[in-house]
Amino acid sequence: MAGKLLLLFAICRLIVIVGLTLNPTVTDLFRVGIHGKLSVDPHDIKSASMDFGKTTRNEPTAVLHPATADDVAKLVKLAYQSSHGFSVSARGHGHSINGQSQTANGVVIQMSRSGRSPAVPEVCEKKMYVDVWGGELWIDVLKSTLEYGLAPKSWTDYLYLSVGGTLSNAGISGQAFNHGPQISNVHEMDVVTGKGQLLTCSNDKYPELFHSVLGGLGQFGIVTRARIALEPSPQRVRWIRVLYSNFSAFTHDQEYLISLHNKPQSEKFDYIEGFVIVDEGLINNWRSSFFSPKNPVKISSLGAGGNVLYCLEITKNYYDSSNPESIDQEVEGLLKKLNFIPASVFTTDLPYVDFLDRVHKAELKLRSKGLWEVPHPWLNLFVPKSRIPDFDKGVFKGILGNKTSGPILIYPMNKNKWDEKSSVVTPDEDVFYLVALLRSALDNGEETLTLKHLSEENRKILKFCKESNIRVKQYLPHYTTQEEWMEHYGDKWQQIYRKKMEFDPRHILATGQRVFEPRFGSEVRSW
Ligand code: FAD
Repeated sequence: MAGKLLLLFAICRLIVIVGLTLNPTVTDLFRVGIHGKLSVDPHDIKSASMDFGKTTRNEPTAVLHPATADDVAKLVKLAYQSSHGFSVSARGHGHSINGQSQTANGVVIQMSRSGRSPAVPEVCEKKMYVDVWGGELWIDVLKSTLEYGLAPKSWTDYLYLSVGGTLSNAGISGQAFNHGPQISNVHEMDVVTGKGQLLTCSNDKYPELFHSVLGGLGQFGIVTRARIALEPSPQRVRWIRVLYSNFSAFTHDQEYLISLHNKPQSEKFDYIEGFVIVDEGLINNWRSSFFSPKNPVKISSLGAGGNVLYCLEITKNYYDSSNPESIDQEVEGLLKKLNFIPASVFTTDLPYVDFLDRVHKAELKLRSKGLWEVPHPWLNLFVPKSRIPDFDKGVFKGILGNKTSGPILIYPMNKNKWDEKSSVVTPDEDVFYLVALLRSALDNGEETLTLKHLSEENRKILKFCKESNIRVKQYLPHYTTQEEWMEHYGDKWQQIYRKKMEFDPRHILATGQRVFEPRFGSEVRSW
């Protein structure tokens, strides 16, 4: 009974939003429209109103759990054709930081779910690709391709993210220097545009839609299927960490290692990342469980004297058929060329799947201590290579001092592995760094760990970059005005604007990104 009342209430709200008296398509939706479930369950509404960042909250009117891509198309078409319009936001796993997958007063399409996705992954062994539902989590993509001894080539550090969610940004990890981001490893997609058309696009079919959607922050369409490139899956990984106290030695080695991207596999590493070690607390180093308990590292014991240390993280993948001695030789040969602190080599060896799923273990540890469900004022920046020393001086050793509140990742990537035609913007240099400040705000009485303090620090970092003319680009960007978005996109803005007008002329999609204001009746606010 309560459920029926809630549904009635939601219909009434939708009537107000879309102007049912003028446009009968809402009743059509309820009567014949969709095969999935349109929910107003408070639990669904609550979870669609929040995200991993836990700093922004917007309540949708309803949540659609689609059963097919057609459900997605029907809902978007309804929003597009209704006289007043309403916003529609795809939500993958809601791991955004600033409300990017939320929408106020519109409908959230919950693309991922805990049970089975509308379509199960289909692997084509011969052509080495997998077709997956847009809401599929990468962990499930991995599980299904491993059954065929195959795996995607390019990853994110954490696998409980949806395919559509990471392809809307870029999807990066330590393989990006070699294979490019995840968006460089997609052959084809099915996309529902902001007009409600379901189109198959690729380099050859609707290429403009294809490139717009990749890195497009959900602005041009909703990905319902993606065809992802695969490779034979390695079985094991040699995982190595070495430490530096000298920043320029650290970045010199990282840049050298990524410059080997065109070499045969035996002459390069498979994954290159790095991080800044400021102190040894759990919240700062939750990604670094690797050092302990078998392999404890005491920063003080390395003579860094309370200063910042830098850790290079590299892996070598191998197969059951590989000769272990030759792996040792390849690793040693590469390590010999690097200038890390002698005796700071930490090595472990583990199954490939465990390596890819490493952050999930850290998540479980943090969850058990109540440190996962906290606000996350993350800041992710692409920093041009030529200015990374200035960034180190001004931010790691300056603004942050010896205090942080979460891991700080830093690793370089080769721009030539990024397709200029995609919607992502990166710095204008051949090599640029990801700097990811993955902060957790805590309410434990320490002022420097509060949300207010960390958010203020983020503002200071952005201000410092601007004043020092370090032309950073935000990754997983967050802006609140269109002027800021225009600056972010720079020369690409005109293109982005034109494509928005073509593929989502009423600005229905992904309003939580706040790139374009919705074009609805004046009484409807959707941001
Ligand atoms: P959501 O937050 O649900 O959505 C993000 C945006 O994409 C929204 O605008 C939404 O509308 C849109 N969207 C969602 N699904 C679709 C779809 N099917 N079609 C079109 N648009 C869609 N990123 C990396 O690149 N590398 C990492 O290593 C990495 N590690 C992370 C680790 C953690 C613990 C977390 C929380 C995030 C990490 N991220 C990383 C960031 C992550 O890639 C983005 O936040 C991504 O958007 C999350 O995916 P999601 O499925 O939760 O997306």
